[in-house]
Amino acid sequence: LLGGEPVIDFELNLYNGIGPEEKKSVEDVMDSGLLSGFYGNWGNEFYGGPKVRELESNWSKKFKVKHSVSVNSAASGLTAAVGAAKISPGDEVLVPATSMSATVMAVLTYGGIPVFVDLDVSNCCIDLIETKNKITNKTKAIIVTNLFGHIAYLSELRSICDEKKLILIEDNAQAPLGEEDGKYAGTIGHIGIFSLNYHKHIHSGEGGVCCTNDDDLALRMQMI
Ligand SMILES: *Cc1c(COP(=O)(O)O)cnc(C)c1O
Repeated sequence: LLGGEPVIDFELNLYNGIGPEEKKSVEDVMDSGLLSGFYGNWGNEFYGGPKVRELESNWSKKFKVKHSVSVNSAASGLTAAVGAAKISPGDEVLVPATSMSATVMAVLTYGGIPVFVDLDVSNCCIDLIETKNKITNKTKAIIVTNLFGHIAYLSELRSICDEKKLILIEDNAQAPLGEEDGKYAGTIGHIGIFSLNYHKHIHSGEGGVCCTNDDDLALRMQMI
């Protein structure tokens, strides 16, 4: 930072996570002749094709959560989550002062008012006291970002939300497999959003997954 000797003085190679298994999976889909199983009508195909459903069911098993809804990006996932939380014009949503822009854009999409909450220096996630201070009678939800692999004080935030009847959305794009008391980050809030963008921990080029244990929230996210 202060201009000393660089610790790494060579170029880091880009890790290539695409191997024979990934190539085979893509080939299987190509061979089936069906690139998407989604059908925008009520019925079995509303839930997508076999590969989409395989991903969702494996994701639910891995993260020990009831529903996993796949989306084309975590930004879309956040939009689905804020819509599922029924945010309407004028509703306030607490958001962290530092995150990726999509965390806040999702609120603006529905005419909600993002209210910024400062970070706790110990974990780079929203500060609990600041959070409590910013709740008003217009607050409908809290979005917390588990930033840089750190997780927020998730069970405390969940208790605050349960007490005040708010929806807790975890933007978990940066902390998959982070955990608190044996529960995975992204499954402690009412909804958790994961990113599968190519520069995240697990990637499919672009993509994302929304997790929830609530049947109604899952259905609303699927419809969005
Ligand atoms: C990357 C990221 C997103 C958006 O993910 P995409 O899949 O690229 O849309 C949202 N929030 C955070 C904290 C991120 O790091």
